[in-house]
Amino acid sequence: MTAESEIIYLDNNSSTRVDPEVLEEMMPFLTTHYGNPSGSHRFGAQVKAATERAHERVAALLGCEPNEVVFTSGGTESDNTALHSALQMSPERRHVVTTSVEHNAVLNYCEAFVRRGCSVTIVAVDEQGHLDLAEMEAAIRPDTAVVSVMWANNETGVIFPLARISEICRAKGVFFHTDAVQAVGKMPIDLTKLPVHFLSLSGHKLHACKGVGALYVDRKSRFQPLLVGGPQEGGRRAGTDNVASIVGLGKAAELAIATLEEENTRVRTLRDRFEATLLAELEDVVVNGDPGMRLPNTSNLAFNGVDAQAILLKLDREGVCCSLGSSCTTGAVQPSHVLRAMHLTNERARSSLRFSFGRFNTEAELDKVVEIIPRTIRKLRQLAVM
Ligand SMILES: *Cc1c(COP(=O)(O)O)cnc(C)c1O
Repeated sequence: MTAESEIIYLDNNSSTRVDPEVLEEMMPFLTTHYGNPSGSHRFGAQVKAATERAHERVAALLGCEPNEVVFTSGGTESDNTALHSALQMSPERRHVVTTSVEHNAVLNYCEAFVRRGCSVTIVAVDEQGHLDLAEMEAAIRPDTAVVSVMWANNETGVIFPLARISEICRAKGVFFHTDAVQAVGKMPIDLTKLPVHFLSLSGHKLHACKGVGALYVDRKSRFQPLLVGGPQEGGRRAGTDNVASIVGLGKAAELAIATLEEENTRVRTLRDRFEATLLAELEDVVVNGDPGMRLPNTSNLAFNGVDAQAILLKLDREGVCCSLGSSCTTGAVQPSHVLRAMHLTNERARSSLRFSFGRFNTEAELDKVVEIIPRTIRKLRQLAVM
């Protein structure tokens, strides 16, 4: 295994390092404080108090009430639960509107829904990764149960105009769900000002651990759980609480509130210097997604004429972690559905890589990567002409 000290981690949209302060708050709940929070003894009550505090901290990050936060096993479960609930609550409505660039947690749920004989309208994006809001509005039908649109894209970082989309949904009287997994902790969120019924977030994208997430559920709307059983989470998500992880997510939310502004400025500076240097040093490098409407930490670049897999392999050997703008399904490399949805050529998509910065990246690391990457690309381009 590669030691952490040897790597430069530029894959924060894929997962993040657990913040040491998060781990510290989690530890008692993995060691001494093992009581069941639903137990009727003081030992359990202590644990219960800690999970309640986590509700408060996540609610503070989102601008909602603590009882509007339902802890889940992650972004995927939150996305599935939101869609499931919306569809269960309006059984006469069998239509969903979503976009072509959603995470598979939403798109594959919709695909399964279609296989059950229901219908889905997938709204397209343009070359910059933006939606046509008139087209989105026109896609909402009388039998539409729910509209599901992500806040920020995990591959390109492109941000959708959530306030306007939520207003359209409110005017049309349909449920609105947003997958905000990449937005939470990277941009300010205030649900008191935004008519959203459901919002998904995930712990491990936010310096908490993997396997925990949350779903915001508007207290004014009805709800149908996906998991049924015990009365946990106000009857909205059965199963004994994943206490340590929930406590950790609470701490991560608190840290996100405290550091949001400063950290985003610092991360944006790193990302911008990264891009500016590569664009100056190399020919034929282009940014994928609207550079003016992106998360501050994400850089999706096409290195024209070079196979991204070859770059990834070389960078990996140099200890640089990033992501392919494509996914490997059943052994064959497919350009990412997001880049394809943006009408990029297969060639451009196949030469694209995603770099995502985060809390623990440093200037010194940046100095190294802006030397490693141009050198690597030049070498690969030389090989290609030989
Ligand atoms: C990572 C991610 C998810 C899935 O979250 P998990 O906690 O890994 O299940 C969903 N949506 C987006 C946009 C993501 O980036």
